[in-house]
Amino acid sequence: MYDIVVIGGGPAGLTASLYAARAGKKVMLLESDAFGGQIATAPRVENFPSVKETSGAALANNMFEQVTSCGVEFDMGRASIHKTDGGFVVSTEYGRYECLAVVIASGVTHKSLDVEGEERLVGKGVCYCAVCDGGFYKDKHVCVVGDGNSAAQYALYLADICKEVHLLTMFDKLFCDKKLTDRISSDGRIEWIKNACVTEIVGDDCVSGAVYRDADGAVTYLDCDAVFVAIGQEPHNELFSEIVQSDGQGYIVAGEDCKTSCDGIFAAGDCRTKAIRQCATAVGDGAVAGINAARYVDGIKR
Ligand SMILES: Cc1cc2nc3c(=O)[nH]c(=O)nc-3n(C[C@H](O)[C@H](O)[C@H](O)COP(=O)(O)OP(=O)(O)OC[C@H]3O[C@@H](n4cnc5c(N)ncnc54)[C@H](O)[C@@H]3O)c2cc1C
Repeated sequence: MYDIVVIGGGPAGLTASLYAARAGKKVMLLESDAFGGQIATAPRVENFPSVKETSGAALANNMFEQVTSCGVEFDMGRASIHKTDGGFVVSTEYGRYECLAVVIASGVTHKSLDVEGEERLVGKGVCYCAVCDGGFYKDKHVCVVGDGNSAAQYALYLADICKEVHLLTMFDKLFCDKKLTDRISSDGRIEWIKNACVTEIVGDDCVSGAVYRDADGAVTYLDCDAVFVAIGQEPHNELFSEIVQSDGQGYIVAGEDCKTSCDGIFAAGDCRTKAIRQCATAVGDGAVAGINAARYVDGIKR
C-alpha cells in the first residue's frame, strides 16, 4: 500500500513526488512515456530560476535524480484511477497500486500542423511556445501559425524580439478578443497573411522557410528562421473523466490548492485549469499538490 501515487513524470509530478517523499510518505511515480515530460524536449531553457541556461533534458534529468534519491519508487505505464472503500487503486498495463491519495500531473501535448517537415524540425526552428523559445530568435525572421488568442499573443510577443514576424491565419479573421485583433492589425511590425494554409516547413538541419497555399490555391514560399505553431494544446485526462470534474476543454478543474472534485485526488501542472503553463508554474503546483496530498494522508491516518 502506497500513501500517494503520482501520475505523470513531468516537472509537476516530479516535484509533487519530491515534496510528498520529503514529508515522509511512501510514493509511487508512474509515467507512460518518458520521465521529464514536455520540458525534456526543449533544446534550451533560460527561464527556470537558478539555472541561467540548460537543456530541458538536463533539467529533467536533475529533477529525476533528486526525486529518486529521496526514495520515490517509479514505474512505467499509462495510469487510470478507481475509488475503493479504503482509498484508490491506480492501474496501468503492468501493475496495480493501492494508495490513500493520488496526484494527477498528466500535462498536455501541443497540437501539430501535421505537415511535411514539422516533426523532423522540432527543436530546430519548429517551436510551440513563444515565451519559451522566442528569445532564441532575436533579430530573426519568424512565422506564427494559428488563428486564436495564443497565435495573436505569440505574434505580439515575438514582434518585440524578432526582426520580422509573419502571422499566418487559416481564415481572414482572428478568433480572439477584438482588442487583440486591433493590435495585430495596427502593429506595423507584424505582417498578417490571411487565408493561408501552411503545407510544409522547409529546412535541412534547421528551419529555413515555410510554404503556404492561399484561398486561390496559389503556393508561396516564405523565408524564415522559425515557425511558431500556436493551434492549441490538448490535455489527456480522458482516463480520469469519471472520477474528477473537467472543464469543457478537458482540463481538470482545480484551483491554486490543486484540490479536485474528488477528495484525495489532486491535480498539478499543465493538466489543470490555469492561466499560465510553464515549467516554473508546474513545479509550483507540484509542491502544493505534494504537500496537500501528504496532509490528506496524515488526516486519514490520525
Ligand atoms: C518544446 C517545448 C519547450 C518548452 N520550453 C519551456 C521553457 O523554456 N520554459 C518553461 O518554463 N516551459 C517550457 N515549456 C513548457 C513546459 O515544458 C511545461 O509547462 C511543463 O513541462 C509542464 O509540466 P507538467 O509536469 O505539468 O506536464 P508535462 O511536462 O506535460 O508532463 C506530464 C507527463 O505525464 C505523462 N502522462 C500523461 N498521462 C499519463 C498517464 N495516464 N499515466 C502516466 N503518465 C502520464 C506524460 O507522458 C508526461 O511525461 C516547453 C514546452 C515544450 C513542448
